[in-house]
Amino acid sequence: MRLSRAFLPTLKETPAEAQIASHRLMLRAGLVRQTSAGIYAWLPLGLRVLRKVEQIVREEQDRTGAQEILMPTIQPAELWKESGRYEAYGKEMLRLNDRHEREMLYGPTNEEMVTDIFRGFAKSYRDLPRNLYHIQWKFRDEVRPRFGVMRGREFLMKDAYSFDLTVEGARHSYRKMFVAYLRTFARMGLKAIPMRADTGPIGGDLSHEFIILAETGESQVYLHRDLLAYDPLSEIPDYDGDLTPQVEFWTRRYAATDELHDEAAWAQVPEGDRVAARGVEVGHIFYFGTKYSAAMGFQVAGPDGANVTPEMGSYGIGVSRVVGAAIEANHDEAGIKWPDAIAPYKLAVINLKPGDAACDAMAEQLYGAFADDAVLDDRDARAGQKFADADLLGFPWQAIIGPRGAAAGKVELKRRATGERVELSLDDALAKLAA
Ligand code: ATP
Ligand code: MG
Repeated sequence: MRLSRAFLPTLKETPAEAQIASHRLMLRAGLVRQTSAGIYAWLPLGLRVLRKVEQIVREEQDRTGAQEILMPTIQPAELWKESGRYEAYGKEMLRLNDRHEREMLYGPTNEEMVTDIFRGFAKSYRDLPRNLYHIQWKFRDEVRPRFGVMRGREFLMKDAYSFDLTVEGARHSYRKMFVAYLRTFARMGLKAIPMRADTGPIGGDLSHEFIILAETGESQVYLHRDLLAYDPLSEIPDYDGDLTPQVEFWTRRYAATDELHDEAAWAQVPEGDRVAARGVEVGHIFYFGTKYSAAMGFQVAGPDGANVTPEMGSYGIGVSRVVGAAIEANHDEAGIKWPDAIAPYKLAVINLKPGDAACDAMAEQLYGAFADDAVLDDRDARAGQKFADADLLGFPWQAIIGPRGAAAGKVELKRRATGERVELSLDDALAKLAA
């Protein structure tokens, strides 16, 4: 993308309404624009990040054998009356009537709808297990939308739903998602720690929130230091095999949000291994048994002919929240420091003197080599402005081309995350960026 022709509405002033860094930076960098309270339009650069996050989520869901579908945003109220949640959900649910006065709603989640779809087809134990997911906009009329896309009213969520014949089968489905989530966030360059979460009236030990550490997070969290050192990408899991060892690495060590924090257990953690921090919930996985299948009368014929009520779980990732959380965890005074995997563009080619033949030639060559994942700053603007914008927008690499260097065949490469700079020949720069 050539910045001289791009729609890239950056702001000079820090917007007064934004209390936290990610919200400020997303507005200043022109990633999103608020259209109503808690509702945002995604602008070109922000949309690219959102799509990259979404694609990593999709690939890791697919790897587990889950299948993607796309359910609508608008749902009929009847389904929610069947499960008993229509009244219970209260004011967070946006309710609407169509022209025939039928009660509809904008989905805050999809347990009812996916159960309805799946029960229409699954008749026998052979149709299980299955995991269906979609990546779709949700609406929750939050009392206090704030922190930009982190707590919006309309937000993009990946939600998966597993159906199993047995409790042990459901536990395996749960472990698959647990491991897939570790991989998903690690691939984005983010450290998300699974923490035991409240299972409410259902009880049991099968609910975890995945939390990214960031100073401005809404949750206070406590964890064992070991959990920060582990690399979930060290091997590709066998999702048909026994995943208990991988899961137990995490569940054996202390990690809790303040809701479930246990002072006695915490005191057992050696003092030097204790990390108390703030965090942002980016994912939540939950096993809830037959709560919806039973309420909605969904049964399949079991192997011995007797009817079985499927065991279910649901697994959410706040795709749009991840964009904000990633910035919360990766920024400095000057702007965003995108992790490579979710950066809107990997490289900014900064031509300090458009019109200078050597600068133009070198800039075009670098830009051309990575055009689908690079921006070219060919604007007629001051050098200071270009540097500031590249830092603000947070591209992982900057290739800085000035008349003196270009004449000598040199380009300066800057790594945004560390500030490191090296001067290289054009060929060396191309090779380094390709690596
Ligand atoms: P929270 O406790 O933050 O209100 P929740 O527990 O209600 O979230 P879930 O129902 O578990 O949320 O939804 C799954 C994921 O969707 C969450 O882990 C979070 O990442 C995301 N999410 C939930 N509410 C919002 C929101 N208002 N804005 C953006 N993302 C959200
Ligand atoms: Mg939650």
